[in-house]
Amino acid sequence: MIIKKLMKKVALIGEVHEEGLTILKDNNFALINVNDYSENNLIKILKDVDAIALRTAKLNETVLQNCHSLKIVSRHGVGYDNVDLNYLNKEKIALAITGSANAITVAEHVMSMFLHLCKLTNISDQLVKDGKFNHRKSMQDTIELYKKNIFIIGFGRIGKALAKRCKGFEANVYIFDPLVQPDIIEQHECKAVKLDEGLQLADFISIHSPLNKNTKYLIAKNELSKMKKTCVLVNTSRGGIIKESDLIWALNNNIIKSAGLDVFEKEPPDPNNPLFKLENVVLSPHNAALTIECKRRMGIETCKNIADYLNKSPNLVLKNLINKDILNFN
Ligand code: NAD
Repeated sequence: MIIKKLMKKVALIGEVHEEGLTILKDNNFALINVNDYSENNLIKILKDVDAIALRTAKLNETVLQNCHSLKIVSRHGVGYDNVDLNYLNKEKIALAITGSANAITVAEHVMSMFLHLCKLTNISDQLVKDGKFNHRKSMQDTIELYKKNIFIIGFGRIGKALAKRCKGFEANVYIFDPLVQPDIIEQHECKAVKLDEGLQLADFISIHSPLNKNTKYLIAKNELSKMKKTCVLVNTSRGGIIKESDLIWALNNNIIKSAGLDVFEKEPPDPNNPLFKLENVVLSPHNAALTIECKRRMGIETCKNIADYLNKSPNLVLKNLINKDILNFN
């Protein structure tokens, strides 16, 4: 019988798919469900855990300093701006992501926002339900994706998956990513452009870079002013990459046509957020990756990263380890 004291402890901060939990249980890890994400509770409950499966709660330095046995933080997702990576690096604690799980899912969500904003699905639906079928002629014109210029900012996993789907709609795809060589972009039959050029030529823009000090307010008044008046702008990456107050200004003053947002500067947004009153906006509650299929894949990958790391398994997926260089994995 395993003595409870010797069992490795895994804290689950947020819900994880049952099939992921099975991996942890099969490894005889003790599971600790964390429902209160306040700093005080995290400090108390995480002090002797070996691993953390983390959704969107914040792990700041104060919390991490009090984790005395922590070996790995495994993000249920790919963004990690809610974790103090500098601290993890300093203490040689691993940070893993679910790199294979959600690119297609988010790309599909962007396509759904593009299409919704092209076809004005909400307005059409309301006309029919209000018995105003014949008013379709007075509705503003809907548009197509076919042969339009689509500008993708960030050509990583999601940016690439989105480009492929846009090519399927026979659109022209332009990319800005300062960290990806233009020949890689050309190999995907897309065109590499500078940020300003992309902003000016785009009919549709979608953002897929991480939130960091270089991308904070990457899109603000100055950049919005360079876009076409007919431009449709979608952000499923992180709130804070677009300056929300400037976007509201642009949408209210016909600087751009419309916007789709899955992410907000403050989540959840305040109930009186002016975006809620705009007809030329479609919003979703940071659920671009939360399809039934993707939740399962993310749950499994989150827990597999933990099990493989704690067991020093040769099956550990190194590309999921954000700080593998610091940890001397080569
Ligand atoms: P990724 O790491 O594969 O790709 C990010 C790309 O952004 C990289 O190619 C990088 O070179 C590029 N980049 C970095 N700095 C840039 C800059 N200044 N300008 C333009 N490009 C820049 O990440 P991914 O899996 O494609 O995910 C992208 C982001 O999407 C994540 O960081 C995360 O915040 C967000 N995300 C959101 C959801 C959601 O539910 N809404 C789900 C998954 C990911």
